[in-house]
Formats: sequence, structure tokens, C-alpha cells
Amino acid sequence: MTPTLERWTTERSTELYGVREWGAGFFGISPSGALQVTAEPGNFDHAVSIPEVIEGIQARGLDMPVLLRIENILDTQISLLNDSFLAAIKSLDYKGSYLGAYPIKVNQQQQVVEAVTRHGKKYHHGLEAGSKAELVAAMGMLRDTGAVLVCNGYKDEEFIDLGLHATQMGFTCVLVVEMPGELPLIIKRSRALGVKPILGIRVKLSAQANGMWAESGGDRSIFGLNAAQIIEIIDALKEADMLDCLQLLHYHLGSQIPNIREIRNAVAEATRVYAGLAGEGAGMRYLDLGGGLAVDYDGTQTNFMSSRNYTLDEYCVDVVEGVMTVLDEQGVDHPTIITESGRALVAYYSMLLFNVLDTARFEPEPLSGELPDDTHIHIQHLLETLQALNLRNVQECFNDVLYYRDEVRQAFNQGRISFRERALGENVFWEAVRRIAILAKDLPTLPQELEGISQALSDIYYCNFSVFQSLPDSWAIGQLFPIMPVHRLDEEPTREGLLADITCDCDGKIDRFIDSQGVRRTMPLHELKDSEEYYLGAFLVGAYQETLGDLHNLLGDTNVVTIRIRKNGEFNFVSELEGDSVEDILSYVEYDTKALLTRFRETAEHAVRRGRITATQRREILQAYKNGLQGYTYFER
Ligand SMILES: *Cc1c(COP(=O)(O)O)cnc(C)c1O
Repeated sequence: MTPTLERWTTERSTELYGVREWGAGFFGISPSGALQVTAEPGNFDHAVSIPEVIEGIQARGLDMPVLLRIENILDTQISLLNDSFLAAIKSLDYKGSYLGAYPIKVNQQQQVVEAVTRHGKKYHHGLEAGSKAELVAAMGMLRDTGAVLVCNGYKDEEFIDLGLHATQMGFTCVLVVEMPGELPLIIKRSRALGVKPILGIRVKLSAQANGMWAESGGDRSIFGLNAAQIIEIIDALKEADMLDCLQLLHYHLGSQIPNIREIRNAVAEATRVYAGLAGEGAGMRYLDLGGGLAVDYDGTQTNFMSSRNYTLDEYCVDVVEGVMTVLDEQGVDHPTIITESGRALVAYYSMLLFNVLDTARFEPEPLSGELPDDTHIHIQHLLETLQALNLRNVQECFNDVLYYRDEVRQAFNQGRISFRERALGENVFWEAVRRIAILAKDLPTLPQELEGISQALSDIYYCNFSVFQSLPDSWAIGQLFPIMPVHRLDEEPTREGLLADITCDCDGKIDRFIDSQGVRRTMPLHELKDSEEYYLGAFLVGAYQETLGDLHNLLGDTNVVTIRIRKNGEFNFVSELEGDSVEDILSYVEYDTKALLTRFRETAEHAVRRGRITATQRREILQAYKNGLQGYTYFER
């Protein structure tokens, strides 16, 4: 690409990277081309410059990659969700109330759960636990007895006892029955402890959602109870004279439901079940709709899986209205509506920042005129094809160069072409492909064969992070995250590239990017400068990414820095957590690092004995080894 003569503006970067579309008012670009972040959506008067935060992080001695959390964005998200439900309830004159329950599995880090309980207190925002460990965390963190504590997941005796103790202490701790076999154990334990349990039922809805993660709903869902099983539970509760304990109906359609129609259908079906349970005489008080509130990662506002075709306000109004419509018709009291939104609450508040280490370009060496007479015939054909290339024969030439390239490879494998000749042949081939890509831009319609051609010629930017550790959903389920440079946004990005991480794994790359028209295979990037680092950010990574990540290639947890933006636009560093050292990582895979060092000392002593190194050199080598153990697992400059 050649730079245009027209001056590049930050507004053009804003459009190019879709900042307004995915940023939800939290992100913008400053006049000097820095990406900015604010905790008050749409108000950039006191926004913080991300490059300045990076400077502050480095001044404190932490290296890239860094996971940066903006604590008060989480506060804002909690307020937006609660205020939006409260507004819908008020405007529709709904008689019940709303309570949020943050599902711990979405981001279990103590800092996150702490922030949710702290800021969520004024809304009585509660927690949802899906396992014993999560319940133990929740019981340690939650102080507000006005909040709910919802227990999903399969429960053994220990799990049930913990939940009953929480109830004993005055918490609304709901034990949600997920499978028929759980009920007898719950009844037995509550009698033994003398605690009246608060029970819920997880229903398997027939409404099916189509999001990428949405397999929790539908008849084939592996979770929840079907109608016959629910009736059995009601009968068993009647028998035990405990039907009044059943107070909550729960379902979870799946995460990231992009289509509001599916959400409405599920609400309608679940509310009918709720009315049915009330009609049976259960002590119904809560309708828990689970998660599913989506994040618009690509900013397209569509029912594409990385997006959502509704706003938060529409979601809340549709939910409240959906519940009311069914219950008013059946003459059933309005319950407290609970949602377990996780993704929408925490996605925005974390970003992954990393530097680019190097780039690779697919640019052939300039061809020097004539080929020597004895050049292999296939290579001569390649050059002739290249010379005959024009707009009318683009496709034909493309097929020809592919054919001759394969012939060259075959001739090399059979020993008829030298390695140097093969390199020449490949160079001619790439020059032809480069020119074909330029011509193809002027074709009225792009032939199918040529579709991937600009991707094949794009640069590779080698980035200092691990997809497996920091963006696992990008690798595992092809999720899209907004990614862009955090500075130089007043300069035109003149390159197109894809991102490779430092795991040396061929899956360790990102080659799918958000785009208003679907998915891009490359993204616009700036040329690297010798004199300065180039920083990129991956955004909206607060949900699910942190603990799903793994230690592929022994790249560990990144450094984590949390800041709070102050009213005057300054920011405080609230906390810094150092990422894993090499020593930490090795101990995770069961190395005893002390023993490792002892062994290495011996190996070095052998080398001294054999005369390969001197004793002084041994000392230096051992020091380097110790430094290696203590170092960060990522690339350090
Ligand atoms: C995962 C999960 C959630 C969270 O869903 P989000 O779409 O992230 O809000 C809520 N409830 C249950 C039962 C879950 O399993």
C-alpha cells in the first residue's frame, strides 16, 4: 500500500478500527493519536491515555505483556445493568424487583469478585457458584444478606452442607436442583442440620439458542430437568411437606446469545413453567434467567455470534415485559427477577497490552532482468508468465504460476534443480503473486481462487504474548476480540498483517479480526520504527479468558495491573500482580527447582573437569541459569 497524500486523521483511525462501535463509550482516540479509556461512557474530558499507563507500568519495572484492569469500568457495568433493570421495572410498573448474581466462573480472580461485591452492595448484587470451590469463595466474599447466593452445579454432601450453613446465617442461599438424585440428599442433610433449605429447580427449556456457546438450552441440553422430572420433584417435596421450600426457577440458555428473539422465547417458556410451579403450590419467589446477555465484540449490532442485536435497555424491558405478560394472564404474583450476567459485566474492564517484537514481510527480492541461459525451463516459464501478466489474463496467469511453482518443487525433490535455483523460482513466483494481487483489486468481481491472495501476502507481526494463555477462546472456539494499536493513531497504518504469538505453535496466531462486513483475515498496522516499541491491545478480555488459559510452551500468567481512573482524569495504580516466573511455571509441572539447580551445578562441574569451561566461566553460567529461573516467561527487552 502506498501512503495517500491526504493527511491521515485520528477520526479515520476511529472508523478504521471500529472504536465507537465496539468501545461502548469507554474507548476513544486523543488528538495526539493515543487510545484513551474512560470509566464514564461517552465522556472523554477525564479520559486516561493508555500509552501513559504503559509508561507508568514500565517505570514500576513491569514488562509486557500486561493485563490491564480498569477497576471503575466494572463499577460502571454493574450500575448500568442494575439501573437498567430498575428503570424497566419502574416504567412497566412491574410489581417485583431485580437482583443480579455474578457467576464466579466468568472470572474467579479474587480482585474481580471483591470488586463485584464491593460496588454491587448498593444494588444487593449477589453471587452464583457452580462448584464447591466457588461456593467457598462466595461465602468468604459476600457480606450483604440482602443479596442472593445461587448454588448451581452438581452437589455432594459437603456442598449441600455449606449452602445450608449460609442459609442458617441469614443468606438467601438457593440450592438449585440440577438432577433428580440430588433432592433426597438435600432433604436428608437439611433435616440433619435442622435448616429449612431454600430450593430452586433448573429447567431444561425446549427453546434453543444459536450462539456459539449456546448449548445449555434445548431438549438435548446436558443440564437441567425436563417436565416429568420436575413433577417428580414436586411430588417428592409434597410428600416431605417441603413444597414451600421451592422458591426459585432457574434456566441458563448459554452464554453470548446474540439474538433477542431467542431470549424472549426462553423467557416466555420459563415463565409458563414458573406459573405452573406456583399453581402446584410451591413457594415461588424468584425467577432466575441465568446468563446469556451478550457483548458486542465486533460492534456490528447484529445477530452474528460476536455481536448482539439488542441494547441493554431493550434486554431489560423485553425480559420484564415477557415475565409480566405471562403472569398477569395467569394471575400469578410477580417474582424477583434474577439474572446471572457475567460476560457483560466483566468483559470491558480488562485489556491485554503487548509489544511487537518483529515482523516478516512476503516481499520478493527485486528481479534482476534476464535469467542465465541454463536456467531450468520451469523457472523460465514462471518468468514468461510473469512478463505476460495483464488485467485480462489474471486468473489464467495465477493458475500457470501455481503449476510451474509445483513443477519447480518437484524437480527439486528429484534432484534436477539446485537449492539456489529453487530459491530463484520461488522469488519469481512471489513476485508474480504480488503483481496478481495488485491487478486483482481492479477486477469487477474477484475469482474464488484469488480470494485468499492478499492474506497470503500480508505481513506477520510477531507479538509478545501467548494466545493459549491470554486469549484462549480465540484459539479454541474462534472468538473475535477487538484488537488495535494503542498509539500512533494519528498516522496512517500502511501495512496489513496477521498476529503471531511467541509460542512457536502454528495455532499460536490471530488471523480473524472484527469487521463491519463480517470477518477480516488481516488487520491494518503501522510500520515498525527502529527507535520505539509498537504496542497493541486486545480488548474486552475480562470474561472467561483468565483461567481458561493454559501453560502451553510454559508461558505463564502475565503481569496484571489494576488502575482506577480519578474524576480529574488522573489515575491511581491500585494493584500490581507479578506474572509467573520461570521457576513458578516449572513448579506447576512438578519440577523441583532447587533440585534442578543442583543437577545443573553438577553438569557444569563436569564441564569444568573435562576442560570445556573454566571455574570462572562456570560461575557466570550458573548466575545466568539462576537469573533465567527468576525471570518472566515472556520476551524481556
Ligand atoms: C456460565 C453461566 C453464566 C454466565 O453466563 P454469561 O453469558 O457469561 O453471562 C450464568 N449462569 C450459569 C448457570 C452459567 O453456567
